Amino acid sequence: MTAFPHRHLLGIEGLSADDIRFLLDEAEQWIAFNRGRRKQDDRLAGLTQVNAFFENSTRTLFSFEIAGKRLGAQVANFHVAASSVKKGESLIDTALTLNAMRPDILVIRHEQDGAARDVAAVMDCPVINAGDGRGEHPTQALLDALTMRRRKGRIEGLKVAICGDILNSRVARSNLKLLPMLGAEVRVVGPEMLLPKDGRLDGIPAFTDFNEGIAGADVVMMLRIQRERMEEAVAGSLGDFHALYGLTWERLRHAAPDALVMHPGPMNRGVEIESSVADDPERSAITEQVENGVALRMACLDVLTRDRR
Ligand code: ASP
Repeated sequence: MTAFPHRHLLGIEGLSADDIRFLLDEAEQWIAFNRGRRKQDDRLAGLTQVNAFFENSTRTLFSFEIAGKRLGAQVANFHVAASSVKKGESLIDTALTLNAMRPDILVIRHEQDGAARDVAAVMDCPVINAGDGRGEHPTQALLDALTMRRRKGRIEGLKVAICGDILNSRVARSNLKLLPMLGAEVRVVGPEMLLPKDGRLDGIPAFTDFNEGIAGADVVMMLRIQRERMEEAVAGSLGDFHALYGLTWERLRHAAPDALVMHPGPMNRGVEIESSVADDPERSAITEQVENGVALRMACLDVLTRDRR
């Protein structure tokens, strides 16, 4: 495969296993590049990349900004706090305004499911979904796959347990699409009230008992409790989440002896994960996920703008 046959990257939905492998292979070169002293390529020189973030972000926004700059793009961040969105402008009006400024690629994060798709429909340039509500977060799932592939040498046949707030997590949604496509054996673990009932888990084993759920897992992926997307009653009834679903050393013993621990961030230390597990360089790949995220996003920016250069 030599080209990526899609104009946008809106989700893992709609991608083939070959499309995914293509992006992961493309990302490899940028990991080595980013470890070098001089990190400046000029393939996006003269192109304008707009990062429009309507929802808070640390890693993803900064990662896309660094990725674009290392490829030579002019990167402009659209700050919602300082924009007319606060004056009541609709998402589509904002998108049309951004489009009129002729960006060459738009990266968008928004709290509504489907926002990236709606925006892509009115834009003349490629759009990357950097997280839409509870919808998808495709670059996160891709960087997770890249991290697993590099640490474990493969994805096919890996037993991956995705744990915690599955219901509200777009990271889980994208990973639940991507990982089985590449041949991983995925299961989810979490309290009943945080497991989706909409068919998303069809064919995916679900466990409410943590130790049982992670038994023999090669990868234990922890997720943040997304209180901002929960109804108050649900948030209030979660009780002592850490006592039942927090990843501790004691619990990790139920996974495979060399199980890799992952978390997309931001972490709630002492809630879904114990600090000393998160910080263990042998077992935790959390900072590698961040490093690989920049490389993966460079690959996406490069691949999606090839026909504009
Ligand atoms: N950073 C990830 C996201 O934006 C995960 C999280 O927020 O918990 O979806």
